[in-house]
Amino acid sequence: MVLEIAQMARETAGETGRPAFSARVMRAMGSVQRHRLVAAEQAPVAYRNHPLPIGERQTISQPYIVALSTDLLDPQPHHVVLDIGTGSGYQAAVLAELVQRVYSVEIIESLGRTAGERLAALGYRNIEIRIGDGNLGWEAKGPFDAIVVAAAAPRVPPALVAQLKPGGRMVIPVGPPLGAQDLVLVEKRADGSVAITKVLPVRFVPLVEPR
Ligand code: SAH
Repeated sequence: MVLEIAQMARETAGETGRPAFSARVMRAMGSVQRHRLVAAEQAPVAYRNHPLPIGERQTISQPYIVALSTDLLDPQPHHVVLDIGTGSGYQAAVLAELVQRVYSVEIIESLGRTAGERLAALGYRNIEIRIGDGNLGWEAKGPFDAIVVAAAAPRVPPALVAQLKPGGRMVIPVGPPLGAQDLVLVEKRADGSVAITKVLPVRFVPLVEPR
């Protein structure tokens, strides 16, 4: 799987500007036991470079997209990171290998609960999951060094920008629910202003707006 990720990174370098991901990120991608974060029937195909169904009509992203998103965050060992859309817990696990603490918000209770159980069984002690609306972030635990969002929003949620530290980085798919979305990098400058860079055309499930 790691070789396929490295190859895709080279192939997409023209768009992403990143011909290779950091050695730390690639090591984390090689370490996480993806087959233990999915249902037993998905385990045999868990290491293919594909999205996987995780129930509730949701999917875990393709490993290459998780690697790209993680690399764009420039994760450091002392970082505290917010992960929106826990899903299987896979992105949270990759981050937990790289940073001090991961806070993760999932809107579908059964997914959040299952991910929490599986992550605990894998021995992760630095991940905390909350059931709630990720559009609102997790204010009590912020501000964050980095934020990653695994579902597409029509625009960058203002609460998430507010919960990013100056110098912090956010990766989020932006665009209509089923249309053309872009993975974008949001960089918050020291003065609080933001720079938004389009990285790659993508297709994510929509970030649900609770009624
Ligand atoms: N990071 C996940 C990807 C899961 S797919 C993984 O590694 O497996 C996106 C997830 O976002 C789904 O689980 C979906 O339920 C969740 N989601 C959608 N809208 C949300 C919202 N408003 N707040 C929090 N989570 C949301």
